[in-house]
Amino acid sequence: MKIAEVKVFLSGPQKGLEDLDSKHRSSWLLETEIANPMSIHAQYRPKRSLWLPKWGRMIVQIIADDGSYGLGESSGGGRASAEIIAGHLKQFLIGKDPFEVERLWDIMFRASLPYGRKGAPIMAISAVDFALWDLISKKRQEPLYQSLGGLAKDSIQAYLTGNGIKETMGLGFMGHKLAMPFGPASGRKGMDANVALVKESRELVGSDAEIMLDCYMSWDVEYTIRMAQLIEPYGVKWIEEALPPDDYVGYAILRKSITSTAIATGEHEYTRYGFQSLLDAGGASILQPDIAWCGGLTEAKKICALASAQALPVIPHAGGLQAHALHLLFAEVGIPYAEYFIFGQAEEPNPDPIFTGIQAPTNGWFAPPAGIGAGIDFAESADKFLYEITGALPVDR
Ligand SMILES: [Mg+2]
Repeated sequence: MKIAEVKVFLSGPQKGLEDLDSKHRSSWLLETEIANPMSIHAQYRPKRSLWLPKWGRMIVQIIADDGSYGLGESSGGGRASAEIIAGHLKQFLIGKDPFEVERLWDIMFRASLPYGRKGAPIMAISAVDFALWDLISKKRQEPLYQSLGGLAKDSIQAYLTGNGIKETMGLGFMGHKLAMPFGPASGRKGMDANVALVKESRELVGSDAEIMLDCYMSWDVEYTIRMAQLIEPYGVKWIEEALPPDDYVGYAILRKSITSTAIATGEHEYTRYGFQSLLDAGGASILQPDIAWCGGLTEAKKICALASAQALPVIPHAGGLQAHALHLLFAEVGIPYAEYFIFGQAEEPNPDPIFTGIQAPTNGWFAPPAGIGAGIDFAESADKFLYEITGALPVDR
């Protein structure tokens, strides 16, 4: 079997259905004040939508010469990742055997080295890798987790990210991860408000659930150490992504200085090489690769192996939200929890206008995904707001 065609799509407003997608994806995360790496620049502080690119979800479809196909997705790199696939990586896939996923990953990685290594190019490779694994497991007529080594567990508990604990407590989730509203730019007053939110959350959930804090690259070393001292009475399980991802030295200081809670990071780290740098620094006690960003399933398995040899858990960013990643969560021993968001109402979670087959947890627990492959397919509504990126720039000059 050979790869006959590689198609790349972005979701977006071109077909006049911006509302449908933004209703699905937009949330308080984008539209309320949450500390972020741009908080030090006052005009961008109020909400992330003031500075994040308005790129849609990127979908990759790899079609084999027998007409079967695999689907992949990676949303962070948007238009840039789509152009990298359509204008560069595609040529290394057409005519090749999709089962040779290790070889294809290595070729894509090496070919993109002059401009790649992190960010949008690795997100592009991740989406292709997802589509290859979906196709492989479909051809084997088995669930993707089976192709990744089989079930390492029979269920996995999810934790919820979101500050609306009053609406979501008692639903069976392992814990609640709070997005910290304030960072150093908001001074002592902001710090007190952060502490008050943690205190109030602990009082709400009592001993029934864990509390975690997400700082989205917005704090600094001194602020994080002070916050850790102030929240110590509330038994926080981890502080996540306190610092920008390149600050390995800062993360190492945090891990040495803070013993009352775990130091988690890695959602903006890439490939085994990036995670090895983090491990060499001793900068994390929990690794949080985003499987759709870090290099896909092929690379995530290597990152899990690195973490395992250091006795560290891997808790992937958005792990319970990505169809392909959920299969890895079931296939790897060292992944204890799945992250989950509730975008809409708790009783009708996450309707997806692009894919059918997206799994949801029951009473806070995921069961192994049903179906063959990643278990997803295009929803009927998908072509109403997906548009194909064909490599618009001339690449054969
Ligand atoms: Mg995070």
